[in-house]
Amino acid sequence: MIIEDSKVKKALSFLTAIIFLFSVVMIWSFFKVDKSSHFHQLNIRHFKHTLELNGLVSTPKRTVSEQNLYFINDVRNVIMKIREQPQACLNMIGLFERFFMRVINTEAIITLCETDLAIANDTLSKISQYENGEISAQYLQNELILSLTRFSQNSILFEAPVQKTVEFVTHLTILIILFTSILVLIFTHKIGTAVTAILNRRAEAIKALAKSEERIKQLAYKDSLTGLPNRNLLSHTVDAAIAKAERQNAQFAVMFIDLDQFKDINDTLGHSVGDKLLIEMAKRIAQTVRECDSVLRFGGDEFVAVTDCFESIETIDNIAHRIIEAVRIPIELENMQSFVTGSIGIACYPQNGVDCNSLLKHADAAMYQAKNAGKNQFQSYDMQSGSKLNRRLTLAAQLHQAIKNDELSLVYQPIVHLPDNRTIGSEALLRWTNSENEVIGPDEFIPIAENAGLIIDIGGWVIEQACKQCKIWRDAGATEHAMAINVSTYQLKDKHFTKRLSDALTKHALSAQSVHIEITENSAITEDKVSVQTLHELSELGAKLLLDDFGTGYSCLSYLQNLPFDVLKIDKSFMPANNTIASTIIAMGHELNMEIIAEGIETFQCYQFLKHLNCQYGQGYFFQKPVPADQFDIFKKFTPSLH
Ligand code: C2E
Ligand code: MG
Ligand code: MG
Repeated sequence: MIIEDSKVKKALSFLTAIIFLFSVVMIWSFFKVDKSSHFHQLNIRHFKHTLELNGLVSTPKRTVSEQNLYFINDVRNVIMKIREQPQACLNMIGLFERFFMRVINTEAIITLCETDLAIANDTLSKISQYENGEISAQYLQNELILSLTRFSQNSILFEAPVQKTVEFVTHLTILIILFTSILVLIFTHKIGTAVTAILNRRAEAIKALAKSEERIKQLAYKDSLTGLPNRNLLSHTVDAAIAKAERQNAQFAVMFIDLDQFKDINDTLGHSVGDKLLIEMAKRIAQTVRECDSVLRFGGDEFVAVTDCFESIETIDNIAHRIIEAVRIPIELENMQSFVTGSIGIACYPQNGVDCNSLLKHADAAMYQAKNAGKNQFQSYDMQSGSKLNRRLTLAAQLHQAIKNDELSLVYQPIVHLPDNRTIGSEALLRWTNSENEVIGPDEFIPIAENAGLIIDIGGWVIEQACKQCKIWRDAGATEHAMAINVSTYQLKDKHFTKRLSDALTKHALSAQSVHIEITENSAITEDKVSVQTLHELSELGAKLLLDDFGTGYSCLSYLQNLPFDVLKIDKSFMPANNTIASTIIAMGHELNMEIIAEGIETFQCYQFLKHLNCQYGQGYFFQKPVPADQFDIFKKFTPSLH
């Protein structure tokens, strides 16, 4: 393209030069033609003055005589005028003209002019001779007549070569003009063709560019795996739906669709199988919605459907139901039938949001509700749980800074040996006072920390603080004091957890027996190899393992058989005295040779009841609420009474 451009530039400058030359030639030719026609004019004037001379000389009354001086003067004047013409002609003839006259054989013009000039000069000198009395009047008269004849002859003879010259110059001019015109035409044509070719090529290049731009756009807006539009097109799609709904005063829905088992399949069967699953699910979802609805892949195993305007919410429920059904049709992966389900959250415009962001956020929140409610179902967004989610998100954001900002602290609640009411240990309970000075309970923020991936750091901080405090109390004389530390199941999944704990113990010169690890009953433990492994490692290390909140969750006895738990902690919800569940658990614990701690003892009756059942340990507001370390009495022996 650049080469083409320079060629055209060259040709254009050449064309400009030719046109310039053409113009010069035109002007030059014009002057030449004009000049040659000037010979004619001069000859006409010459002829006119010759006639004038003829008038003077041929009049019988006005012949040369001594008495007629005016006549002589008139004759002289006319001859001088005649003389001007050949003189002017000769002045006009330069070297160039002489050359041309020689070429076309019209040099006679020069000869004639020179002759004419010589005759005129000669005649004038004869007049002077006459005036000086050197020649007679008659002689002069004869000479004048002779000159007149010769002037007339010259005038006539002059015409032919002048005509020839004018014709030649005119023809030559026409030829030159023709030639340069042809040249200009050829070049203009050539340049025109070149420019057209360049323009065509440029147009093609622009077209190709536009095509590739379109392709890039498509790539940017299209998910390469499933072929569906991707999330880049989401706001555009939702905005268009909002505009339409506004015009028609109608509503539409944004559905957030998430596959329930995608991660498992991806992890176990590999990414290519995961991709196959996504392609199939994308196809199913796209085929299930109506033509007027749009489906986009949001990312991972998440899809978003933006429906067209609807009149009744049943329409949306129908679509969501159909998607759920389409997704759960078994799919063959790796030669076996796999069962996948989907959870859908629905947010409707305008009641659940008036812009893309809020609609999507609320559809996402509703999808989580659907998951929490057992997956394989759809849920419409409801404001209340939405604001809960908002709070969760805000807390999660704040929690990131909690350790750094020193917002976490531990409080301690005594664990009491029920037979003699002595404090034998304490449970470390985490507290968080956020930047807005709000005290947030662990029941609320621990799950947030778990989901936000912060529990490892926070749990590590708890271990560090609890060990430090335990060491202080042990050094202060409570040499048997046991520190119960709550550990999340997420921490158990960390391969390095045992190492972290033993490092903390070493750092504070504590034996493993100084700490009790409390783990809340949870089905996830048995299903996760690393967690089971960690429990065994902890047990081997010598730390006591407590199964916290026993009776509330999984309550599977295989827990107790297969996992190395030493102590059962009966959940506080069973604590109203003489509860049969509590007594059954205590009996079972004895049976399994496990120690029992009852938590949530709030009343004397409850305390008595547990003592009666031979429950070894107790904990609860009846003895003491959790307090900061400086308010904790490590040597406290309680004296339980009714009041
Ligand atoms: P948990 O381990 O079962 O702890 C006992 C909870 O019962 C504590 O609530 C405690 O304050 C409360 N409690 C104690 N005595 C009584 C009583 O007589 N009546 C009633 N109604 N409640 C009583 P807290 O401190 O709010 O902790 C709640 C849960 O948060 C804990 O339950 C534990 O599962 C979790 N948690 C606390 N600290 C940590 C921690 O450092 N790490 C982890 N992973 N979880 C923690
Ligand atoms: Mg606990
Ligand atoms: Mg508990």
